Amino acid sequence: MNIHEFQAKQLFGQFGIPVPKGKEIKTPLGAEKWAAALNSPVYVVKAQIHAGGRGKAGGVKLTKNRDEVPALAKELLGKTLVTHQTGPKGRKVRRLLIEEGATIAKELYLSLLVDRDSGWPVFIASTEGGMEIEEVAAHTPEKIVKEPIDPAVGFQGYNGRNLAFGLGLPAMEPTLLNPFVTMLGNLYRLFMENDASLVEINPLVITQDKRLIALDGKVSFDDNGLFKHPDVLAFRDLHEEEPLEIEASGNNLNYVKLDGNIGCMVNGAGLAMATMDVIKLAGSEPANFLDVGGGATKETVAAGFRILLKDRNVKGIFINIFGGIVRCERIAHGVIEAAKEVGIKLPVVVRLQGTNAEEGRKLLLESGLKVEVATDLWEAAQKIVAMTGKKRKKTAETA
Ligand code: GDP
Ligand code: MN
Repeated sequence: MNIHEFQAKQLFGQFGIPVPKGKEIKTPLGAEKWAAALNSPVYVVKAQIHAGGRGKAGGVKLTKNRDEVPALAKELLGKTLVTHQTGPKGRKVRRLLIEEGATIAKELYLSLLVDRDSGWPVFIASTEGGMEIEEVAAHTPEKIVKEPIDPAVGFQGYNGRNLAFGLGLPAMEPTLLNPFVTMLGNLYRLFMENDASLVEINPLVITQDKRLIALDGKVSFDDNGLFKHPDVLAFRDLHEEEPLEIEASGNNLNYVKLDGNIGCMVNGAGLAMATMDVIKLAGSEPANFLDVGGGATKETVAAGFRILLKDRNVKGIFINIFGGIVRCERIAHGVIEAAKEVGIKLPVVVRLQGTNAEEGRKLLLESGLKVEVATDLWEAAQKIVAMTGKKRKKTAETA
């Protein structure tokens, strides 16, 4: 789960990480009142969306004139911001963060995440803050410093000093060595105590009066740990999530929306991945990833159908079930009842394999539904692609 910058900064504040004085604002009137209360030489008005790259896209406005703040708020609120992270559709701005401006002497990059290779948390820092870290990594990898933290030991002062000296921070500003090490320790505590998967501060700035301030903040959490953190869960903003994915998670379905037009319903994540691959191989594109889980029932199948049918791109449905624990004739019953209940008019191909597959196929064939039945995965994929039309360019072979 991701949260907004203003929420990340609230957490930073709780863990003693310095942030600019700021407040979440939802209306131009609120902006006017807060600007008066803030009374700063510079005001920063920042669009709050779950995506970076706002600066370049016009989502971060600076002004020295307090009277301009409500107009800037009005300009940003309700606007759809397109950044390199939002995709072409962009994100609608519903909230702002309005804070006092900082005078920047140097922009640094700092993050903490789980390194997949070692399984340890690792700090990543760079003197090239403000830029996209991917660019720095690609062009000047020597400017990136890493410090893994042994979770059994926890963060130690020497870890912080390794990073500080790796960045050349003491040479830049000797008085900041200790505050920097303290900040890293606090960041590590925030990360571990909240089951975060990523904390990123880009930029972490050195101000002209020689203070360290987190000017931006991004925090992502491990969804499997959220049940332990109701205060973090309270940060969830459903506007920032795909509506169909929200509905799916309410039904205990693992669903990820994609851009193709073949709706997939599969039991097991591995088989669901293979199903998407085989659809592509057959010349089309999957509309989604959907794992109905090992214990699929009539109810889960019906919920899956409803979610697939709400995606207007879906032109056909491909059900791929391997009966291991789950029995294929049960799934067939589920498909028949759910299809009648939901009223499916699109082409459907059902591939059943495993326990009681024969019986399942027989039930489907005798149900009177317009369902194609298959045993072989490749055959099934070709059928559904033939019924919905290839999305990719025709090759000489298929033309
Ligand atoms: P992002 O583009 O979505 O990552 O948004 P950021 O919060 O990182 O802001 C983008 C850029 O705006 C930063 O890299 C800074 O250069 C600039 N910026 C943000 N806040 C301030 C501020 O208080 N003072 C100044 N001078 N620049 C700021
Ligand atoms: Mn940033």
